[in-house]
Amino acid sequence: MRPIIAGNWKMNGTLAAVQAYAAALQAADPAPLMIVCPPFPLLPAFAQALRASPIALGAQECHARPSGAHTGDVSADLLKEIGAGYVILGHSERRADHGETNADIAAKVAAALAADLTPIVCVGETEAQRDAGEATDIVRTQLRHSLPESFEGIVAYEPVWAIGTGRTPSAADVTAMHADIRTALVTQFGDRGTKIPILYGGSVKPDNAATLLALPDVGGALVGGASLKAADFLAIAAGAPSV
Ligand code: PEP
Repeated sequence: MRPIIAGNWKMNGTLAAVQAYAAALQAADPAPLMIVCPPFPLLPAFAQALRASPIALGAQECHARPSGAHTGDVSADLLKEIGAGYVILGHSERRADHGETNADIAAKVAAALAADLTPIVCVGETEAQRDAGEATDIVRTQLRHSLPESFEGIVAYEPVWAIGTGRTPSAADVTAMHADIRTALVTQFGDRGTKIPILYGGSVKPDNAATLLALPDVGGALVGGASLKAADFLAIAAGAPSV
């Protein structure tokens, strides 16, 4: 599988930064599939800057309904219309800040699929859950209840305690969790589950990317802070194994 390196800009970035960032990515012509997920207002500028480019565009969220009285929300159809091909769903910051449940996320995933967007669905345990020996059960439950029957897309394993902290799990822990996620996906979706890419996310940086990306069943990375600088994001992509 071609590695996937997705960048989650979160609530960062400016319109003024888009052109230079997009140009740097396009000039590098990276081997992995790279997906940039900026805040909603930057999507049209990115779509324009990346037109006719293999660099893909994603959003960080969508609503479960196609339209209606949902002030401040954005539909999957509109994201598709303005040029997004992907959408991050179930990020731990959304689960925590907006109280999103697994059922909410499953509904958004279904909406994304109906709009022909590829969902990148995040799962991961908190530090307290890991310390209590519950990490595997938590992630299995998130997968079972956040992924609808019709799921096709990408899963990102993001231990909450590793996001933005500079800490990462050991290679053995990432390997064990990705193996467990693979088993869960195959149990849930049969043969389709063997092909779902599983990204690792949480403090991926240029200096640890190659190690993390070489681990079994790590199909790429979901990158937060280090995706904000094109040079760092590209350095992470350069760490991906060639296929
Ligand atoms: C993220 O928020 O998805 C993430 C992985 O952040 P960071 O790389 O900054 O830890």
